[in-house]
Amino acid sequence: MFTEDLRYRNSLASGVEHTEHTMKFICDGMLGKLARWLRLLGYDTIYFNTPFKKEFIEKARAEGRIILSKCLRLNEVKRAKVFIIHSDSIVEQLKEIIKELRLKPDDRAFFSRCSFCNFPLKKIEREKIRKKVPPSIYKTMAEFTECNNCQRIFWQGSHWQRMKGKLEKVLR
Ligand SMILES: [Zn+2]
Repeated sequence: MFTEDLRYRNSLASGVEHTEHTMKFICDGMLGKLARWLRLLGYDTIYFNTPFKKEFIEKARAEGRIILSKCLRLNEVKRAKVFIIHSDSIVEQLKEIIKELRLKPDDRAFFSRCSFCNFPLKKIEREKIRKKVPPSIYKTMAEFTECNNCQRIFWQGSHWQRMKGKLEKVLR
């Protein structure tokens, strides 16, 4: 299975640990897009859409995740770290988080996680994906990564370039 709409590759060699990326997040139902972009930056981020605030907060606590929320109030959360998101724009939201939580996104970690399911991506041998991607892609792309959870295959195509451009804009 391959994806038409999101093509990117892991810029990290598989198996490389990035210790500076130990911060983990949980996004509420209104922040699905933010969750995907944090994953693109390499952060372990889950999207948890539930109408039950208590369940959401318990999940954050159980997994040691920082809560990113648009609908909770600070005083509703006890014994968990919470960051309330104000902006509606994805670029501004990312800027807010990076600044306030003093994150230092590392471009070696970009595209190291599946943006669909948060699973770490692994490099995959070209020969193994020959039949899984269009022939033109197979011929022109040198490196591929795979998500072992959703089986999507990614490569550094035009979509990847656009996303990288947007990430650079956020980090500027
Ligand atoms: Zn996946």
